[in-house]
Amino acid sequence: MAPKTRPLLVRPGARYACFGDGLCCTDIHGLGPLTRREVTAIRRIDSGAAPYSELFEDHMLRTAADGGCVFLMADRRCALHAEHGPEAKPDGCRRFPLGLVATPSGGRITTEHRCPCRTLGDRPPLDASAAEGSLCSAPGRVRADRHIDEIRLRPRKRVAFSAWEPVERELLGRLAAGEPPARVIGEGAFPALRRTSWEAQADELISARDGTRFGHAAAWFGDTVLQLVRGDRPREPARPWADAFDRAEGRAPTSSTSREVWNDWLADQLWALKWAEQGSLVLARAELSTRVAVGEHIAGRLEAQGFRPDRAAAEAVFVVETVGESEYWEAVVKAIQA
Ligand code: SF4
Repeated sequence: MAPKTRPLLVRPGARYACFGDGLCCTDIHGLGPLTRREVTAIRRIDSGAAPYSELFEDHMLRTAADGGCVFLMADRRCALHAEHGPEAKPDGCRRFPLGLVATPSGGRITTEHRCPCRTLGDRPPLDASAAEGSLCSAPGRVRADRHIDEIRLRPRKRVAFSAWEPVERELLGRLAAGEPPARVIGEGAFPALRRTSWEAQADELISARDGTRFGHAAAWFGDTVLQLVRGDRPREPARPWADAFDRAEGRAPTSSTSREVWNDWLADQLWALKWAEQGSLVLARAELSTRVAVGEHIAGRLEAQGFRPDRAAAEAVFVVETVGESEYWEAVVKAIQA
């Protein structure tokens, strides 16, 4: 069956609301690139707000002196949204942290976990009708980020999407029941790499440190890999997004467990099916088990410093998801796959 975007489907247990913890509007990963149409529309409102960035080789939203988007107001609301309506915001701002994947059963609403509003505190269940407006490219027309119609359980074993659904249900059920994530994934961390080594990949990640928050996160990830595979002595963690987590912790006085944070993240990794575009479930298990091992180590160090278990896990999730989206991790996945 062909993938379709309707009906809109929400993963049971997914929770999210925007509390304005203020991360996506203050970090360069949330500020572009802009489409040509968005550049024109934004320049009509503020002629200098959508400059060309030599660094990113694309048009981005202009940042103010504090590094935040020029439209971010002191009360952490978006001036474009407040003064011109949600449709005035660039597509990336409207969607983040939501996404959509078309499947033969309908459009799965996905959520990124690079956002404390998604990972920390009391959050209402994700509501399909509330999310729909963010996912539309035109009134009533939702746009899918990817289309999946079959799944590779192993490199040479493709199955119809309907055969994958019961397998997935079982995995999601075990995560919802609180089983340890490493046991649900069922593959060891740090699988053999072809034509490279974990040490070499860790060095690449450490060399990504360029003063940006991403650079710090990548280096922290690389440093943790060296501790785990070679027993290197730990360095002081970088904690690039600590300010947003301070705000989130302030609005969420009660801690949940770190297991809840990890299992929620892993469930969304499976549900979002990005892995199904890259390769088989075997590959997904190998790379996810490695990121969980690195992330749990990072979270353990933060907990040892006195941070709340859910916050420690949420900050670590942020790091492993961000690195997982990067070209550095793409190279690792290729080396696992080879
Ligand atoms: S345009 Fe609005 S939503 Fe987008 S980054 Fe700027 S302040 Fe945030």
